Amino acid sequence: MSQLIVLGLQWGDEGKGKIVDLLCPAFDVVARYQGGHNAGHTVRFGDRHFALHLIPSGILHEQTRCVLGNGMVINPEAFFSELDDLEASGVEVEGRLFISERAHVLLPLYAAVDQARERQLGEQAIGTTSRGIGPAYENRASRAGIRMCDLRSDDLEARLRPLHARLANELRSAEAEVPSLESLAADCREWAARLEPYVADTGALLQAWMAEGKGALFEGAQGALLDLDHGTYPFVTSSNSTAGGACTGTGIPPTAIDGVMGVLKAYTSRVGGGPFVTELEDETGEFLRRRGNEFGTTTGRPRRCGWLDLVASRYACRLNGVASIALTKLDVLDELAEIPVCVGYRIDDQVTCEMPARSEDLERAEPVYEVLPGWQEETAGALEFDDLPERARRYVQYVEERLDAAVHIISTGPRREETCLRRDGWLDGILGEGLSRVATAIRG
Ligand code: GDP
Repeated sequence: MSQLIVLGLQWGDEGKGKIVDLLCPAFDVVARYQGGHNAGHTVRFGDRHFALHLIPSGILHEQTRCVLGNGMVINPEAFFSELDDLEASGVEVEGRLFISERAHVLLPLYAAVDQARERQLGEQAIGTTSRGIGPAYENRASRAGIRMCDLRSDDLEARLRPLHARLANELRSAEAEVPSLESLAADCREWAARLEPYVADTGALLQAWMAEGKGALFEGAQGALLDLDHGTYPFVTSSNSTAGGACTGTGIPPTAIDGVMGVLKAYTSRVGGGPFVTELEDETGEFLRRRGNEFGTTTGRPRRCGWLDLVASRYACRLNGVASIALTKLDVLDELAEIPVCVGYRIDDQVTCEMPARSEDLERAEPVYEVLPGWQEETAGALEFDDLPERARRYVQYVEERLDAAVHIISTGPRREETCLRRDGWLDGILGEGLSRVATAIRG
């Protein structure tokens, strides 16, 4: 069995949830490697609708094991709330849900710190989800964080003391409420008791499962352009959402990975601040937002929308070694007469196809478009590539040529049946016998 990374190639919300859900029957394990409850997948499962923020959507497949890797920051209360929802819907998680003992605990009071900072930044605000993800990673990097394995330790209060002192200072200066050290420690003990059945050495488990021949899908949250190192800094998330993060964030070696699939939306969206070269602040942008239902799962915020940016996506493909693409939301473009795609950036009269490091340069960049003809026909439900309108096929092939990667999955609607699978040697090799299970899931 193979080990596959599936990640977003844009600024998140590419529709990764549906793609991971679709591929689940071909894998034994789904592992998340970064982020926290700032991620948000909407997955339809039969008649039910699940919004999962921490727990991989693989949990809805009863044979799939799910791992929350060491690279994540986990808010225990958010985790329990998802667990309660799943259990209330009859989803049995016992024995197949694992949290890394090395994962950091996102203390709920980090959210107050996050919010206070965003307020102070005013117009320069990053546009975070205000859930405390940034402060959790900061404390992790400064070696002050509390990990899952620390929750039950005898010296918990001693470990919490310096962290509490630092946070209390910051919260007081922002005139926010400060919980006492004792109440913080009591919360930790309560969480520890309920978390215990799930906390494990997940790196060792993953390696053992792989040695037994099991396959794992490593699911990236957010998107490659939000990566802390490679994204549009400083308008980025606080973790490595790119493929490298799958190894550091779960404890498996790079040599274990067999392939990377990038999820690319047929147009672009972005939440929060930061440069967005192809953004449309007009009625076409509004059309994409409405037709694509581009409102955040986690925050409900309207997403900024614009054309496909092949400069940024090509950069993301290279960065992640993407050989395979799942192109989503093609149906959202169905009615358009013309579809511009960005193939270059004009910055100070120079045209470049490379991604500038500085967000300031991106802010000034003018998109250089190539305009492709729209197909103005419905694409939803096309199961075969040849079922798609000719101009829609041309759009797909154009993306393949520009990104130098094969589009193996084309999604034309939120449901599983609204998916076109294009087999070739690469996909057969990665999915193996699981390919027929994926095909069955699509065809019902
Ligand atoms: P993620 O964070 O990348 O998983 O993306 P989200 O779950 O936030 O957003 C994806 C949304 O688009 C969900 O509501 C999906 O049901 C929906 N979706 C996924 N694929 C398609 C598609 O091909 N067409 C349409 N119209 N909607 C889709």
